[in-house]
Amino acid sequence: MKSITELYRTLLRTYGKQNWWPAETPFEVCVGAILTQNTNWNNVEKAIENLKRENLLTPEKIISCPDEKLQKLIRPAGFFKQKSSYLKNLSKFIVEEGGIENLKTQETGTLRKRLLNIKGVGKETADSILLYALDKPSFVVDTYTKRLFYRLRIVNKENVSYEELKSSVENTFPPEKENLEIYKEFHALIVRHAKERCRKTPICRSCPLEKKCLACATIMKP
Ligand code: SF4
Repeated sequence: MKSITELYRTLLRTYGKQNWWPAETPFEVCVGAILTQNTNWNNVEKAIENLKRENLLTPEKIISCPDEKLQKLIRPAGFFKQKSSYLKNLSKFIVEEGGIENLKTQETGTLRKRLLNIKGVGKETADSILLYALDKPSFVVDTYTKRLFYRLRIVNKENVSYEELKSSVENTFPPEKENLEIYKEFHALIVRHAKERCRKTPICRSCPLEKKCLACATIMKP
């Protein structure tokens, strides 16, 4: 399969709309984007529940929360010492910028660079915040995207850079407001597909992409 548009349409037809990100507020998206680094979503949910129970899901409250308390609350998400300082760094940035609504008024590329300057915010985290918290058309790439795009030979090498993968989607669907929902859905659909079928050891038999997947015939399947 060579067409990104065809991939998006097939995934949407198969799984339907995913309506991501699972969060009640934009700040909760920001917190989730940090906490989900190197762990699975079930662990993130437990940490977020702890923060909600303590009524801490605002940047001001995260900043003023004692380190030890914050670390204890987010412990289920792992790397809790690192992540608690990352949450504080991001919260300080949001407060200094005058809040989430003010951030939304900034130009996407400039804001992305500024987010990437925050310790603890890498490319995937920055793009998740831009896309799902700030409604900016910035496509999110993850290891699932990398694996799927290579298996479908949308890209020809396994070790394609983050920016190359991001550009491959953004060249197909330009980063404009009209494609915002496509960006949100496409990333969520890739995650769903990778978890349900295109796993490390894929389940190709029931895959809607099987006939067009060049990798399918050559990889081990259960
Ligand atoms: S056919 Fe198999 S390898 Fe190809 S996309 Fe589907 S699950 Fe992944």
